[in-house]
Amino acid sequence: MKTTLYTYRRFGDRYVVSVANHAELSEAIMSFCTATGIAAGSITGIGAVNEATLRFFDPATKRYVDKTFAEQMEVANLTGNVSQMNGRPYIHLHCVLGRADYSALAGHLLTAHINGACEIEVSALDGSVGRRYDEETGLNMYDF
Ligand code: FE
Repeated sequence: MKTTLYTYRRFGDRYVVSVANHAELSEAIMSFCTATGIAAGSITGIGAVNEATLRFFDPATKRYVDKTFAEQMEVANLTGNVSQMNGRPYIHLHCVLGRADYSALAGHLLTAHINGACEIEVSALDGSVGRRYDEETGLNMYDF
């Protein structure tokens, strides 16, 4: 299957996905989950980006602090999950990014621009997991 954002092949309840060069990673994963109807599952991946915006959640303020890094970086690890909120896929991604000097950045991944390749595996669960906003933590928590 081929779109402008990704190509993929399905293996039972698992999918191997190649995100297109120059695509925005979160948009591509969101589009993939919408198209395939995946409403619960996990995501792992590796790749390369030339810009990424990471978020750090401050429990004291219950707000995310965003920071953009515009440089070539290896996606040393992408780990996340798929759930549903307000009838749409909810993608929760964390990543470790490797810089040219081999140091690493890490955090919650908001957006990333692929520059090279990005290879993802999505493991789909049979069903859906919802989320709801939790006042105490300020986070969108799983809602079972
Ligand atoms: Fe997070």
